[in-house]
Amino acid sequence: MNCNKTIFVKLFLIFGILKSLAQVEMKPEQTEVWEPQPKIITPGFNNHQAPSDAIILFDGSSLENFTNLKGEPVKWNLKDGLLTVVKSMGDIISKKSFGSIQLHIEWRSPSMIEGEGQGRGNSGIFFQNEYEVQIQDNFNNKTYANGQAAAIYKQQPPLVNACRKPGEWQTYDIIYNAPKFYLDSTLASPARVTVIHNGVLVQNNYEIKGKTLWQGMPYYKAHGKAPIKIQEHGNPVSFRNIWVRELD
Ligand code: MG
Repeated sequence: MNCNKTIFVKLFLIFGILKSLAQVEMKPEQTEVWEPQPKIITPGFNNHQAPSDAIILFDGSSLENFTNLKGEPVKWNLKDGLLTVVKSMGDIISKKSFGSIQLHIEWRSPSMIEGEGQGRGNSGIFFQNEYEVQIQDNFNNKTYANGQAAAIYKQQPPLVNACRKPGEWQTYDIIYNAPKFYLDSTLASPARVTVIHNGVLVQNNYEIKGKTLWQGMPYYKAHGKAPIKIQEHGNPVSFRNIWVRELD
């Protein structure tokens, strides 16, 4: 071994020993983070009801937080604390606009089974008015995989089909991260979505490819905060207990 090599090996060994000593000599407290402390909130009962920091969009008492697409009062059916889609009355949107959110929504397919495929128990939640998480009765009802319940419509099938029977209440807990755009309106980062259907992970941080389209390939068009839209697809799907937490 020549002299340069010997020096190099020695330095390498010394560096290694010093590094190990530094690890050992670090006190446990040096890797503790105390400030800021997370804000204290009160979780909702049974993990379904709204926590104390949620914005309640629908609690069964009124439709004051929604309008139809023309900005008029919602013409869906509000009865016994439930909101039910009425055919031909159009989609509804939240009055408030949102970016990234956590959403909880409970929905029920009609117990009277009517229609096949996309025609059975179809509705949907559009984040920022653009990106649909499908609602559909896919209990013994086959359709294209990327169009069934909990699919990112025409983009990504759910990891599993976690549908309950028609007439039974189902939950979506969704974490939606809004896309970001540069000042010149080009895409800086796409939207991402995680969906938990009836307690089961069905979309795992999926990167949304662009706005939901029935026909053609999805693409992004720059936008800011926007309402949540719930789809009227002709089927009397019911809803209850809708709340969001803003994540921006
Ligand atoms: Mg739909």
